[in-house]
Amino acid sequence: MRRTLIAGNWKMNGSLQSITELMDGIKAGLNEVDNADMAVCPPAVYLMKVKGLIGEANIGLGSQNICDQASGAYTGELGPSMLKEAGCKYAIIGHSERRSLYGESDELVAKRHAMAVESGITPILCIGETLEERESGVTEAVVARQLDAVIDTQGIEAIGKCVIAYEPVWAIGTGKTATPEQAQAVHAFIRAKLSALSTHIADNVQILYGGSMNAANAKDLLSQPDIDGGLIGGASLKAEDFLAIGKSA
Ligand code: PEP
Repeated sequence: MRRTLIAGNWKMNGSLQSITELMDGIKAGLNEVDNADMAVCPPAVYLMKVKGLIGEANIGLGSQNICDQASGAYTGELGPSMLKEAGCKYAIIGHSERRSLYGESDELVAKRHAMAVESGITPILCIGETLEERESGVTEAVVARQLDAVIDTQGIEAIGKCVIAYEPVWAIGTGKTATPEQAQAVHAFIRAKLSALSTHIADNVQILYGGSMNAANAKDLLSQPDIDGGLIGGASLKAEDFLAIGKSA
């Protein structure tokens, strides 16, 4: 039985004051979330602060990226041992904003994935098509290519150690959510593709949906058979909305 995971991607938002208030709010309502694991992915500069704010609460911590190298002359990157020291359980990898705004290729994302797995950090591997790709009918080919970049270099076992986040790029931060049927169709495709290599991994890997998920649409999305949670951007910045998504599971 796959657990539901609701992970908040705070992106480049927040201040010491606002993240303290946000974490206080999340912790205050956490006991009402019965059927989901919750995680937050703050900007790197706040990771250790948030770890302290989490305290004993059952909230996972994640970074928004991880370096593909262990340490050394990689200015601006975050080393895996540093992220572990900061208390990270997860690292978001290959977010579409990293791919489109900072030119991260499938190959680099796969290397980051390998470093996370090697370090015992669970990658949240983001994949998804642009609007243009969807309209030209290549959605499945795009997500297959993004998955194959990891599988071809690290084997299907590496997928067994990650969480996949299917995030149609046209739905991220736009308020245009994929319908539950659209999302389910791609999630089912991903699981079927993995199943051809390992039914065990396909049956057990968590596949999250991301793209304008909010308190109003979460229940319908999360009730789809192959949707195992959400990667939440905007709605993770308000404790009430983030908790409401967790409670919809
Ligand atoms: C995201 O950034 O991963 C995301 C899903 O953002 P939003 O929920 O704001 O669309």
